Amino acid sequence: MSDKGKTSVDNKRIEKAVREILLAVGEDAEREGLKETPERVARMYAELLAGMQEDPKKHLRSVFSENYDEIVLLRDIPFYSICEHHLMPFIGSAHVAYLPSGAILGVSKLARIVDCFARRLQAQERLTYQIADFIMNNLKTQGVAVVLEASHSCMTIRGIKKPGSVMVTSAVRGIFKRDPKTRNEVMSLLHK
Ligand SMILES: [Zn+2]
Repeated sequence: MSDKGKTSVDNKRIEKAVREILLAVGEDAEREGLKETPERVARMYAELLAGMQEDPKKHLRSVFSENYDEIVLLRDIPFYSICEHHLMPFIGSAHVAYLPSGAILGVSKLARIVDCFARRLQAQERLTYQIADFIMNNLKTQGVAVVLEASHSCMTIRGIKKPGSVMVTSAVRGIFKRDPKTRNEVMSLLHK
């Protein structure tokens, strides 16, 4: 899927599929509590996967020229994504840092970029490097570091059932990758 992802969610198709699931688990899909469920689930997926139709570049409109050349960091950005292996949510916090090179980004835009990539069918590892690569490739910057911490419901409530376990992934680009001293500095800021 490209960043410009043109996919649009076909709600009717989801409704049909959800109805099939209800029947497959032995439910009466017509009973009161379930009658509207396929429609609700379709709307829910359209919302949770809205990032597939969004171009993250639109969040780069508020880029300001600035000679600030120290680390800019936004920590504890809450995010919600859907694990592509189980279609179950994984929920956590993103911490994003960059070292500007003549331009800074409106601070809320970092959070919007995280959202745009999170609202897709994802693997946490890929989500992490997509955010890092997007900022690295589209904002004038010397380096980018992204750390994601998330709890996967496919692991906490099913499978090996380990509530409280948190998966941590990180991606570093540019100077944070090349220079161990700068990387240590940003990592100590990103990890509380
Ligand atoms: Zn999963």
